[in-house]
Amino acid sequence: MINKKTIRDIDVRGKRVLVRVDFNVPLDKKGNIEDDYRIRATLPTIEYLIKEGAKTILISHLGRPKGVDDSLRMNPIAKRLSELLGKEVFKLDDCIGDGVEAFVKNMREGDVVLLENVRFHPEEEKNDAEFAKKLASLAEIFVNDAFGAAHRAHASTHGVAKYLPAVAGFLMEKEIKFLSTVRDNPQKPYFIILGGAKISDKITMIENLLDKVDIFLIGGGMANTFLKALGGSLGNSLCENDKLELARELLKKAEEKKVKVLLPTDLKIAEKPEAKEVKVVPSREVPEGYAAFDIGPKTVELFKGEIKSAKTIFWNGPLGMFEKEPFDEGTNEIAKFVASLSDVTSVAGGGDTASALKKAGVDEKFTHVSTGGGASLEFMEGRTLPGIEVLLDK
Ligand code: ADP
Ligand code: MG
Repeated sequence: MINKKTIRDIDVRGKRVLVRVDFNVPLDKKGNIEDDYRIRATLPTIEYLIKEGAKTILISHLGRPKGVDDSLRMNPIAKRLSELLGKEVFKLDDCIGDGVEAFVKNMREGDVVLLENVRFHPEEEKNDAEFAKKLASLAEIFVNDAFGAAHRAHASTHGVAKYLPAVAGFLMEKEIKFLSTVRDNPQKPYFIILGGAKISDKITMIENLLDKVDIFLIGGGMANTFLKALGGSLGNSLCENDKLELARELLKKAEEKKVKVLLPTDLKIAEKPEAKEVKVVPSREVPEGYAAFDIGPKTVELFKGEIKSAKTIFWNGPLGMFEKEPFDEGTNEIAKFVASLSDVTSVAGGGDTASALKKAGVDEKFTHVSTGGGASLEFMEGRTLPGIEVLLDK
């Protein structure tokens, strides 16, 4: 249960409902959708609104346009959504203005329209009140289903809620439910798998989690900084030399709180990510000229041996440079192992983590893979997300 009202708590029949979705999907160079996970994740909300006889007006951003940008129009997304719903989805060329107003006035119950990329208007990111009012004037109810954009106070995620009754969609509800359960009430033992590029991006999250977690398993670029802080030689590995003291402090705090921290015992190294020659070395003995791009096989076994007793797992950050073979192996192996466990709540957050789990083919076997990158991390840090805060309390 979440403490915000959802679309179940409000009468939507016959009403014009403005739904902020996160259709910020990856596009290839030709503008085709590479991954429609974020579109599929909003289907429960849209299908519910159709079934309940609402007039559904969808709005999203896509990419980072500076003004109108034909390569970032929402047309391919409207087409894909229409295929997924098995129903016509109208698409307009703007998100405010006379044409849009005229269209929404004539909508029938069950109709779905997708407005144009909201970031074509610079007022969106400025959370401009006039712009938010114009968006609000299109509808009678506001639904926020864009968890991935909830950490931004923009006009379509935050400002608009001042002028309309605002509730959560089903995706938003699901994200809050799973992420808050692992954040606030994890079943023990609670494991965190932490990787990714940098400690500095995630210090607050690590500190916040120290009070709740039983074991940290650390890999990826993040582990290098910890290993170096403990006196290891890391060669040319990605390492934050100005964070060594901080890494030592985090380890000390963990020890005081009786939180176990496991670092890699071996690493997969190469001169460059593209190099043909890949070696495995003990984790504190990376030779000059080499860099660690993945955890080694002994570390994979060590991590598996620990993870098998977990009841809750939260994973953020790939354990190596998963975009480049063979440095995806550590991440893939651990991902498959977590996915194979029964009786464990497995939740993952982070943009690259979600791609890595998808690449490993196990994203659907996790209890929950967040659609939010930055938003899921800020949520786990315990910060208030503006796009959630403005929704009506239960
Ligand atoms: P998320 O988006 O899930 O929060 P991050 O953005 O923190 O994750 O980290 C993902 C990035 O970290 C990936 O681009 C990956 O290649 C990189 N990375 C992980 N391990 C290493 C490493 N050992 N060396 C260099 N880059 C790494
Ligand atoms: Mg990232």
